[in-house]
Parts: sequence; C-alpha cells; structure tokens
Amino acid sequence: MIYLDNAATTWPKPESVYQAVDDCLRLIGANPGRGGHSMARQASLLLYEAREGLAELFGIEDANQIVFTHNATDAICMSIFGLLSPGDRIVTTAMEHNAVARAVRFVEAKGVQVTVIPCSGDGQLDLAAMRAAISNKPKAVIMSHASNVTGTLMPVAEVGEMTRRQGVVLIVDAAQTAGVEAIDVAGMGIDILAFSGHKGLLGPQGTGGLFVSRTVAVAPLRVGGTGSLSESDNQPEFMPDRLESGTPNTPGIAGLKAGVRFILATGRKNIQAKELALTQLLLAGLKDIAAVKLYGAASTAGRTAVVSFTLAGKDSGLIAHALDREYGIACRAGLHCAPWAHQTLGTIKTGTVRFSPGYFNTRAEIEQAIAAVRELALPGGLR
Ligand code: PMP
Repeated sequence: MIYLDNAATTWPKPESVYQAVDDCLRLIGANPGRGGHSMARQASLLLYEAREGLAELFGIEDANQIVFTHNATDAICMSIFGLLSPGDRIVTTAMEHNAVARAVRFVEAKGVQVTVIPCSGDGQLDLAAMRAAISNKPKAVIMSHASNVTGTLMPVAEVGEMTRRQGVVLIVDAAQTAGVEAIDVAGMGIDILAFSGHKGLLGPQGTGGLFVSRTVAVAPLRVGGTGSLSESDNQPEFMPDRLESGTPNTPGIAGLKAGVRFILATGRKNIQAKELALTQLLLAGLKDIAAVKLYGAASTAGRTAVVSFTLAGKDSGLIAHALDREYGIACRAGLHCAPWAHQTLGTIKTGTVRFSPGYFNTRAEIEQAIAAVRELALPGGLR
C-alpha cells in the first residue's frame, strides 16, 4: 500500500511511537494524578513530559497551559463553547473544516453572531476584509493554519498582529500544520491553539490538545474528577486541571510524547523540507497531465503537504476507488469534511482527489502515484 492520506491521519508512525504505547500499557499502566504510588507518579510524569515536548515545539512558556483532548475537533469545541456567550461576535474564514464551521454554526443558533471572511478561488484569505472585521472588535477570530483541501497556509501571523492590536482573541486550528510547520504562539499572536495529535505530531488517533494563553478565560466543557482538590465541589481554577476532567488517554499520550520527541530529534524543519520536496514532485508531475486540474497555490510556497486535483470528466470518488483497487494507493476523495472550502474553490459538486504525502513517503511512491493518475486520465483509463 502506498499511503497518501496523511492529512487524515499520519501512517506509519515512528517505531518509537508504537513502542511507547506498548510500554505505557505494560509497564506504567496506572492512572495519572490519581494515587501517590510510584506507578501513578510515573504516569503523571509521562503526561507532564508530553506537555513539555509540545511546549518546546510551539514556543509555549508554561507547559501546564496545554491540555490533552480527544482530537482537534474536541479542542476547537472546548475553546468555542468555553469562550463565547450569546451576544458575542466571532469571525472566521471561508476555508474552514467542519470542525470550525459546525462549531460556529452551533453557537450561532444560540445567539453568537458569526462573520465568514471570503477567500479567493485558490484559497487565499481576503486580508482587507479580515482587517475590517477585526476593527469592529469581535470577541474572537478562529481560523485554520492551513486548509486540509488545498494545503494553503493562512496568514496567521498577520491576523495575529491585527487581533493583538484590537484586543481580540485569536484561535488557530493547527490540525494540518502542528509538527510540520513553524508555530510560535507568542510570535504569531495566537491566544488559543487547537491541534490533532494523530497527524503531523505522529501520535496515535484519539489524541489532540489545546493551548490556552493565561490571558484568556475558557470555561470547562466537562467538569469532574481531576485528582486535585477532591474536597471541593467546584472545578479547580488552575491549569491543566481546569480543562482536563476524567482519566486521560495515557497510552495515546505516551505515543504522542514519542511522536513529538521524534520530531524534535529529527528536526521539524527537516520533516517539513522532505514533505515539501515530495509535494513539489507531485505538483510538477500532475501539472504535466493535461486532464488534471490542480487547486490552491501553483508551487509549494505558502502550502503544506496537501494536493487536491480533479480529472476532466471523471468522478473523484471513482478515481480514488481505482487508485486503491488497481494501484494500491490510499488517498481521499470528496469534500474532506470541508464543504466551505469546496464552495470557495468551486468544487462543491465534484469534490476533489486529495494526495497528502508524509515524512515516510518516498520519491518512488510519488512517481508511482503520478504514473497511476496519468493512466487513469487516458480515454478508457477509468474502468
Ligand atoms: N481542522 C482541520 C483543518 C482538519 O484538517 C481536521 C482533520 N481533517 C480537523 C480540524 C479535525 O481534526 P481531528 O480529526 O483531529 O478532530
């Protein structure tokens, strides 16, 4: 199998990730923060070290401001539901994934006013419209760091400068970029960062996280046992306990910690460079096929490792099916849980075929994928 669906979840994981999950289940196994015995203390330490790795990667000063979540969706819901009240205003963009789109529509039905800033046909944000919306001082802006359909990198740092100046909270959905693209929360003006643990961070599914700056008050989505302040009926005010109730996914977080350590040891920039080189090869090869229409930026500048295309006159779902069945290539076709982005690109009716290379793909695999698309593009190539 040639796996080109890393935007959905990365595979394979580094060997150390598999090992860490297994070691955690077999050797640590206790409930973190719930007991003074040495196994429970080891489990607590594991969680803390995982937070420290993430803090190093994202330029976060206090690792305790990071909480673990089930995934990026969970983190986004925690931030939107915990921050906004009826009457508040929030601004977002026309390239968002349903993780953001549905969350903002959900609070809109409860009285939050939502403004969606348009993007161009290749997924670029209308910065002037964003500036105007921010100057109206909404409570928050929520935007993805990169589109999961086109890989287009959004101008987070520019928006961060505007939100900071106006005292507006900036929430960033880094599901597609965490672990690969540079993220520096202080330097980019990010107040809240939501991320998946199972994509670029190379951890297992069922992991994700949320960073909340000390300057922003986010009410808990869930309350309950935290292992701290057990005598009180009330949720602790301090982080991470304030936003982390119930037994965490400790084996998953052990894997996430190992994924982050792999990134820090390999060098995030080296991972990014390899993924972009594969993406460049893919873009150049697909561009040579006359029937292919590519979406998003023409080059890898301003793009992460995601490539969406359509083949003239051919159904995206059937192409993905043929790639899987006849060529052993895993990719994703359709709307990718991002109908707003497809509306923006003009592909809401057709969807696209999406290839998303990862660090463990090879140039030979990319060349095979291009050759497969070339064959499928021939008349009668798609049976
Ligand atoms: N936002 C974006 C931009 C995404 O690509 C995804 C995953 N496809 C999500 C949010 C949701 O991430 P998760 O599956 O970790 O909840």
